[in-house]
Amino acid sequence: MLLLIPGPVQTRPEVRAAMAADIAPWDDDHRAEHAGLRARLLAIAGGAPGGHAVLPVTGSGHAAVEACLRTFVPAGGKVLIPLNGAYAHRMARLAREAGRVVAGLEVPDTRPVRAEEVAAALAADPAIGHVGMVYSETGSGIVNDPEAIGAVVRAAGRRLILDAVSAFGALPFRMAAHPECDALAFTTGKCLEGMPGIGIAVARTDRLLACAGQAGSWVLDLAAIHEHAVHNGPGSHRFTPAVQVFRALGVALDLYEREGGQPARLARYAENARVLYEGVRALGLTPYLERRHQGPVVVTVRQPADPAFTLPGFVAALKARGVLISNFFTTAAPTFRVGCIGAVAPEDMRAAVRAMGEALDSLGVRRRAPA
Ligand SMILES: *Cc1c(COP(=O)(O)O)cnc(C)c1O
Repeated sequence: MLLLIPGPVQTRPEVRAAMAADIAPWDDDHRAEHAGLRARLLAIAGGAPGGHAVLPVTGSGHAAVEACLRTFVPAGGKVLIPLNGAYAHRMARLAREAGRVVAGLEVPDTRPVRAEEVAAALAADPAIGHVGMVYSETGSGIVNDPEAIGAVVRAAGRRLILDAVSAFGALPFRMAAHPECDALAFTTGKCLEGMPGIGIAVARTDRLLACAGQAGSWVLDLAAIHEHAVHNGPGSHRFTPAVQVFRALGVALDLYEREGGQPARLARYAENARVLYEGVRALGLTPYLERRHQGPVVVTVRQPADPAFTLPGFVAALKARGVLISNFFTTAAPTFRVGCIGAVAPEDMRAAVRAMGEALDSLGVRRRAPA
């Protein structure tokens, strides 16, 4: 089965096989392995040794995003969130439920937020201390620009929290070049092509010290996780970790480095997305995004107007042909979404497009333009 969803992604057999072990998290051999893993992730994040820390939270990606919000935005503090997709709305909910005040910046889910929009919102409200932004918006497939937005946040003397969950490892970002960035969040099971189960934040160590004690949660307090690592060593864990997921991530990072790291991974995903985007158009379907706004992580496609098309029917017909896509959509208009990330290559995308053509024919979907 070809798994084309934007996380958890298709993995290589050697990554999955690495999980088949019992491991004691406090064992000296594991401590060395874990410290090494943290150092490798810091390098991928472009963090400065000593200046930034890698802070894992067992859980899904949202756990790391919530931990970033709780740790750095004080209770009652205000965070500006550009709302151009489902994951931005999730970030807003995480902040609100944690008792932080959200200033939502409404932006259509078909384009990135513009630097001047963020600059104007910051200028209009001095109470905003942070901007919370999704890098790759997995809802529609657009990519917001942390270079442009980061510069605006820096100029305004505010702080940035970046949800890089579906971007990390593929889209470029260097923490050391972004002093305004308190933290970014990612997960083991997306562009790093590991198994799901751990959310990870990379954060500034000076800000972790300054923000100690304000999370309002012990489990999700990045400052407490950092303090534990400082006192017990970078090979230590605070609570019981998903230790097999770490083991698999080490193997996934070997493969990542062998492939050529971030530039190579981005190139493969971008080509996957291009093949898919052109392929669905050749089938008479309409991509949700304009080509210039299409990111490399997920391609969303408008559902055809033909009444013979139903999303569950299409997903089942594709599954019968060996391709598994999401059975839900999170865009403003009805779409289906196809992931371009994971251990999949352009030839897999060509096979997926062929399967889509056969699935549409088998369902009798002739009118393929959207309603
Ligand atoms: C996947 C993802 C998350 C986290 O999702 P989980 O289901 O909690 O792993 C957060 N933000 C973005 C942009 C994502 O793609």
